[in-house]
Amino acid sequence: MHRHTILIIEDNELNRDMLEVILSDDYNLLFATNGREAMDQFYKHMSEIDVALLDLQMPEMDGYEVLEAVNKDDRLQHIPIIVTTGEESIDVEERCLMLHATEFVRKPYNPPMVRLRIENLIRMRNFAATLSDVEIDKKTGVYTRNAFMHYAQDYIDKHPNANLTLIMTDMSGFKGLFREQGDLAFALVRKEIELICKENSSSIIIGNYNQCDQLIYLRPTKHVDDMGDEAKMEWFEQGFARLSRKLDVTIKAGVCENIDTRVDFNEHVRHVCAALSESKKSYNRYSTFVGKELLAKLQRESFIEKYMEKAVNNGEMQVYYQPKHDSKTERLVGAEALLRWFSPELGFVSPAEFIPVFERNGFVSVADAFVWRETCKNQRCWKEKGLKIVPISVNASRQDYTHKELVPFVLSDVKNNGLSYLMMHIEITESMFENLSSEAIRVLQAFREKGIKVELDDFGTGYSSLNSLSELPVDVVKFDMSFVRKLSDPRQQKVMKGCVSIIKDMELHSVAEGVEDAETRKMIADMGIDSIQGYYYSKPLPASQFEEYLAKQQSE
Ligand code: C2E
Ligand code: MG
Ligand code: MG
Repeated sequence: MHRHTILIIEDNELNRDMLEVILSDDYNLLFATNGREAMDQFYKHMSEIDVALLDLQMPEMDGYEVLEAVNKDDRLQHIPIIVTTGEESIDVEERCLMLHATEFVRKPYNPPMVRLRIENLIRMRNFAATLSDVEIDKKTGVYTRNAFMHYAQDYIDKHPNANLTLIMTDMSGFKGLFREQGDLAFALVRKEIELICKENSSSIIIGNYNQCDQLIYLRPTKHVDDMGDEAKMEWFEQGFARLSRKLDVTIKAGVCENIDTRVDFNEHVRHVCAALSESKKSYNRYSTFVGKELLAKLQRESFIEKYMEKAVNNGEMQVYYQPKHDSKTERLVGAEALLRWFSPELGFVSPAEFIPVFERNGFVSVADAFVWRETCKNQRCWKEKGLKIVPISVNASRQDYTHKELVPFVLSDVKNNGLSYLMMHIEITESMFENLSSEAIRVLQAFREKGIKVELDDFGTGYSSLNSLSELPVDVVKFDMSFVRKLSDPRQQKVMKGCVSIIKDMELHSVAEGVEDAETRKMIADMGIDSIQGYYYSKPLPASQFEEYLAKQQSE
């Protein structure tokens, strides 16, 4: 068992001997006969001494002077000191406590009391040491997220007028050696980031925000004061771009300057997270500052979150339908269900704005289920009115696939409305399948077995590749409008023709989205794309107008 070490500082030989008798069985003992010797011992055995017992009246350097000297040295302050007192007054004790003495034992010594006091102090010290272990992230050597939040708040409380900057960084794209050398690589990155911030590490509180790839720094705003806004942003942008190139990783940052210390610190962290997300969104942007624009966007997002539930329950959300026509016969062959939000508080909110927010907070599953249910109800109603209904596709999101009840819910809604499964399609995007388990593929297969067709939306954007066509269980490919927009370029025409031919070979159906004029319509039809959706035929229509559209098509 580890034996703890006690330094006994006492000029009286008899007292020293008595303490030795009381403690030598359980502890390693060091001795000093005056203050000066004590200080020597402290410096020699700084990391070993667990507790010191200190007499007050001593030659050369007395107990008070020892306490003062210990207080002045950061390296010694962690050692608890028990003052051994005779018949001194309460004033003496007060003076010692002010000098951060931890405990007192009275002379003549009562052996059990002396032992108990020492034991308790050692227990408390061990406990504090364990706590600091928990606070430091083993891999990165910086504070854990919780500890960072605590110390950052503590710093702000103590320096309410400080001018502070919060920075969050994210590293990705580790390769080979760099990844294997985890800790080392991390330390290097940390050092370099500190250089960009032009600070030495002692003035920075650093935490590991999200695994080891995301760090958060709170530091006094210094060098940036004398730079203009533009220059400041450029400085960070260039710094992180250079560092990324140098280390062959991608390091992105969010920066929140001059934080308002009166505002809840969590808010600032939320802002800097959002700034980092902005940087991560674009390929060649490395840093984003929290500014008016971002704050306005965040505020609108928090309103969206505040009102979203009410919106679904109060009929502020409506499902619109956009027709799809056959490219050859030009007959109506289907429609896409698109959500619309008319909010009394926010005005009209576009799905391009609220869907990404819902996707982040998970509410998108509620919205998608609402669209599915409404569409099944509408299809039934139109069918009962004797209209010839067409298949309607409903957009699905990644989160939908994490719901176990998805398949039974979707299927029962169709059945309960007396519809054929063929009258409903599901639109998915390829990005939904990044890291998604085989479970999602199984779900899609279950729909297809029943006859619900699966459409691959947004084909030709972002990461979508021809490869995914062979991997994902889909029936229809929808060319994104960005693809259609570029058709005046002969090279783009060739790419599209190539894609169409592969799609045909695979016996899949194709749709082009965002077709606005007759010329594009003809070009697309000539390429052999099966169906067309776009303003050329119609904008998305509210249910009542789509009903009229259906009726009109029937009478033609
Ligand atoms: P998307 O699924 O690719 O939908 C097509 C978007 O293109 C729709 O925008 C539609 O109004 C628009 N559009 C169609 N034809 C034209 C055209 O000729 N010109 C132009 N300029 N635009 C055209 P919208 O309704 O704003 O929806 C945007 C995106 O929001 C959708 O893209 C979809 O990803 C998402 N979204 C909409 N409703 C839902 C929903 O109920 N659930 C889910 N998960 N996402 C939805
Ligand atoms: Mg769609
Ligand atoms: Mg689309």
